[in-house]
Amino acid sequence: MHEFKQLLRDAAGALGISLREDMCERFFRYYRLLIEWNEKFNLTSLVEPRDVAIKHFIDSLTCLLVHNPAGGARFVDIGTGAGFPGLPVKIVREDLLCTLIESTGKKVSFLRQVAGALDMADVEVVCGRAEELAHQARYRASFDLALARAVAPLPVLLEYALPFLKTGGYFIALKGPAVQEELPASGNALNVLGGNVKEIMTVFLPVTGDERKLVLIEKTGPTPEKYPRRPGVPQRRPL
Ligand code: SAM
Repeated sequence: MHEFKQLLRDAAGALGISLREDMCERFFRYYRLLIEWNEKFNLTSLVEPRDVAIKHFIDSLTCLLVHNPAGGARFVDIGTGAGFPGLPVKIVREDLLCTLIESTGKKVSFLRQVAGALDMADVEVVCGRAEELAHQARYRASFDLALARAVAPLPVLLEYALPFLKTGGYFIALKGPAVQEELPASGNALNVLGGNVKEIMTVFLPVTGDERKLVLIEKTGPTPEKYPRRPGVPQRRPL
């Protein structure tokens, strides 16, 4: 337990993020639940403490390097799976209002269990498809920030994410180096949905040295009502 927390603290410190003891304690409890549930349901292929600490927890936190949300901001993590990147972000930025969207029921049960065990206020776990939830008044154009990691190619992700954002809000796609190939194909989606690439930040993960690209997109205007299209359509016919 001590080594796990020290590894996390050092790796976060290398990115300029300072982790308090209570945050490390939450990460450790989250790690234990992830391993426990993973024995019954397939939540992650990474189970070694070092891999979970760096490739899930620290990797999730890198998005805070490209954009620092204001206190009280409302964020949504789309296709969060076992909670990445949304839950690590919420552990470090408890002042943010967090909504986690996931379409697989078992993952949602896991997320509800973790959110309860970590005893954090303002974590909402929603079971459903981004394409449907983005049309509900409670979610449409209501977030200051959207996040997504390992869910879909960028043109598809833009159709999932931009409808959730207020004008002036930001979407961060947590990607690998291959995003350079997705960017040229994203121009039409950005135009149609109302977005603009503000920055692409390269980050190397501490310890493993893996390269990451954080794509920061600003929502520049309202998204037309017809988007996102029906579930599965953005994936089959990207804009
Ligand atoms: N973001 C997590 C991570 O980085 O570890 C999970 C990645 S996993 C490869 C993709 C997840 O997105 C799956 O759990 C899947 O069920 C979910 N997902 C894919 N498309 C979705 C959609 N349209 N709406 C909601 N969830 C979706």
